[in-house]
Amino acid sequence: MAEQFAFKAEIQQLLDILIHSLYTDREIFVRELISNASDALTRVQFESLTNQNLVDAGAELYIELKPDETAKTLTISDSGIGMTRAEMEENLGTIAHSGAKAFVQMLKERQATSGGQDVIGQFGVGFYSVFMVADKVRVVSRSATPGEQAYAWESTGAETYTLEPAERESRGTDIIIHLKPDAEEFLQTWKLNQVIHRHSDYIAYPIYVGDKEEAVNKQVAIWRQESKEVTDEQYDEFYKMLTFDWESPLHRIHMRADVPLQFYALMYIPATNERNPLLARREPGLKLYARKVLIQEYTTDLLPEYLGFVQGVVDSEDLPLNVNRESVQANRVMANLKKTITNKVLSELKRLQKNKPEVYHKIFEAFGRAIKQGVVVSPAERTDVEPLLMFPSTKTASADEWTTLAEYVERMAENQTDIYYVIGDDYASASRSPHLDAFRQRGIEVLYFVDPVDPVMIMGLPDFSGHKLRNVDEADIDLSEIGTLSADEEAPREALPDDQFGTLRERFAAVLGDRVTEVRESKNLVGSPARLVSKENDPSRNMFRINRLMDRDYELPVKMLELNPRHPLLYNLSGKLALDPQNPIIDTVIEQVFETALLQDGIHPDPASMAERLYALMQAATD
Ligand code: ADP
Repeated sequence: MAEQFAFKAEIQQLLDILIHSLYTDREIFVRELISNASDALTRVQFESLTNQNLVDAGAELYIELKPDETAKTLTISDSGIGMTRAEMEENLGTIAHSGAKAFVQMLKERQATSGGQDVIGQFGVGFYSVFMVADKVRVVSRSATPGEQAYAWESTGAETYTLEPAERESRGTDIIIHLKPDAEEFLQTWKLNQVIHRHSDYIAYPIYVGDKEEAVNKQVAIWRQESKEVTDEQYDEFYKMLTFDWESPLHRIHMRADVPLQFYALMYIPATNERNPLLARREPGLKLYARKVLIQEYTTDLLPEYLGFVQGVVDSEDLPLNVNRESVQANRVMANLKKTITNKVLSELKRLQKNKPEVYHKIFEAFGRAIKQGVVVSPAERTDVEPLLMFPSTKTASADEWTTLAEYVERMAENQTDIYYVIGDDYASASRSPHLDAFRQRGIEVLYFVDPVDPVMIMGLPDFSGHKLRNVDEADIDLSEIGTLSADEEAPREALPDDQFGTLRERFAAVLGDRVTEVRESKNLVGSPARLVSKENDPSRNMFRINRLMDRDYELPVKMLELNPRHPLLYNLSGKLALDPQNPIIDTVIEQVFETALLQDGIHPDPASMAERLYALMQAATD
């Protein structure tokens, strides 16, 4: 007697869409069922490495498509791992497939609109896609576990399915598809051949169609094929199946190596770092095969962490087949694989940076932060990562035009030995930084470190090919011998006489108290009245940014205030001070000069608090 069961609610929703689908690419159901069959074969193959006690232990691993003209059925069979009754209930009665789950989720989100027909092909909707072409489906399966009874699962795609004992001599699964009248094209051998070639050519097991004795598919995994034999579409489709990404990748790396290690790798750089948590592969890591047998789904030991955004497959001829999954990590071959693969990815990135800068730009936009972390996290590999870094600078035209460190070094000004950078919260504010005055005046290039991770990155980047990296806010930078003063600058105003400046400086120090470490005269300021500078190697000035980035408590670093003795504001202020030291506007201006400097460094904790004082100043100015 067949027992009847109700589908889980989400499946019902999925089935409704699929059954009423007008989707033109419904041939993808063939791809999905073949892919399931192939998984079942891989699983039994893997199992048989360590377990001889299986039904039909030595049986051929194959997939077969048999159309039946009279019954109007297409049967897709495999000699894979099969399913027990409990497994059928679990696997075919609930949604396991992450693609199907994501698909249902998306349907919920855009329920009212167009439905989901147009995007079915982009999701691996798995087994249920068969209901796009079927009135009724019967799955007969016998598990590879000895002693298990064969069972049949059957459904018309309505609310319920049934389970009953069945006959099946050998291990494996038959999917018997009763085709809808408008789907009878899938009874035709040529049609099936065409669909297999298009979507399943690289399946590693032979796929037989009808009574033919020869496999229809090439059976060479896509990564084992010559790259000239694989079309862009095939590469793309494989990527999408692998990652559940909808967008095509930015770049692919298809490699094979023979000495000293023999392996194949097909790797991709995705288009964005945004991963829909429902869609993406669950974890980072490459898929690892040993001689075509899947050993590990997420292998993170093949690339350094900072390249974890790379997706793909590695297939080694040197890893022992019976390596158990835990010992993969410890294997010596793995270390060599990692080295070779990492070098390949790095050299490809460098090649793109040089030859296809627009592609590299997109890659760095999406994954630059990961790459930058490599500088800090893998100090040993710092020199590998350094050439990949790119930043806007005072010599590029906009925030989106970047330069490498090497290009910077090539352009260095006369007598310049250090590399200078300015840190800021964003490009616009950093480009107005008072620290840049003197650098601009002398034609010295400054890099913008305005990505929130940059303060973290520089902890691992004290120098680049012998040139020290220095923050422009350092107190001791002396530019007097570097570059050339631009001739068209207006002749600088006369500086305040020493005694007047001294009085003014003391007043600043008294008003600001321990909010600054010191008040002193600046040699570098040109157009700005003041700036805050740090001691070289003062760790607090970056730590606070890092803490802020990570939402931790932080204290503002206490810095030194530098004043520009040539600036008209300070001239005026000095005059006011000489006239009437009690004038309240003096201290108000001092407070505002200090807070403006905080603001210009992007470290003002509460800019809105300045409003009241600014109004008071405006009132005084309009008096
Ligand atoms: P997915 O294959 O992504 O998990 P499906 O909905 O396509 O999602 O299939 C659900 C589950 O049913 C599979 O994970 C697998 O456990 C089982 N299954 C499907 N087809 C077969 C088959 N031919 N042989 C054995 N198990 C299968």
